[in-house]
Amino acid sequence: MTKGCKIHGIDSQRRSFLKTSLGAATVMIAPGIMLFDTAHGQTQPASSKVRWGMLIDTAQCKPGCNDCVTACNRENGLSGGTKPTDSQWIRKVELKDKGKGRELSLPMMCQHCSHPPCVDVCPTNASFKRADGIVLVDKHRCIGCRYCMMACPYKARSLVHEPLHDQNPDVPRGKGTVEACTFCVHRVDNGQQPACAEACPNKAILFGDLNDLESEIARKIRSVASAQVRADLGLDTGIRYQGL
Ligand code: SF4
Ligand code: SF4
Ligand code: SF4
Repeated sequence: MTKGCKIHGIDSQRRSFLKTSLGAATVMIAPGIMLFDTAHGQTQPASSKVRWGMLIDTAQCKPGCNDCVTACNRENGLSGGTKPTDSQWIRKVELKDKGKGRELSLPMMCQHCSHPPCVDVCPTNASFKRADGIVLVDKHRCIGCRYCMMACPYKARSLVHEPLHDQNPDVPRGKGTVEACTFCVHRVDNGQQPACAEACPNKAILFGDLNDLESEIARKIRSVASAQVRADLGLDTGIRYQGL
């Protein structure tokens, strides 16, 4: 994404929303609006003026390329799927259109649904949606019941089975809690792109504000055909795919 894009204009008041939070406390002030007391003493809510989303161009996403997955694992301290129980927040899905012989390769992660069933079923309010559309899990509240994993039609969530070591302090994780793609909220709140979008060598992943008519992503969605995976479910996903 170019420097002129909306991502670089993120409201600086929201930048420290989910920063390094050793000893962080979380306060729910209303459904979908959380305040994180950070070690720096800053508490700012996300803004409902923004809706973060991604447009993934399947024509640019190459079979065999795994750079977004590698970047996600590195950024978030994931082990990279060396065991069946390892968390994976993004995975490559290979599709073949038998009629046309066309092969598609696309990354799948939490779709940051506008009407997320994972949030609806969570008995402790650990699963929540920020005002800017990012769906997260509050580790302090999650009891590991996995209802959200069963409710998610995209199989986007994982339970942490093992004790974790050497974690990225910007990305709090914990054994016995459920997790998924956070849209790299710690980066986004600092005015950066998600790690997967930045890492893609073909710029197949465009991240930005769906609500801002002038943002690159909103302009592109108006000018190309795009689709939501399982749009029939009516979840209004934040991730859109071009060429699906
Ligand atoms: Fe929740 Fe799954 Fe939707 Fe992500 S993709 S918001 S985990 S239901
Ligand atoms: Fe909520 Fe955690 Fe149970 Fe998921 S596993 S429904 S986040 S308490
Ligand atoms: Fe992983 Fe961040 Fe991309 Fe989500 S947005 S898949 S957490 S790198």
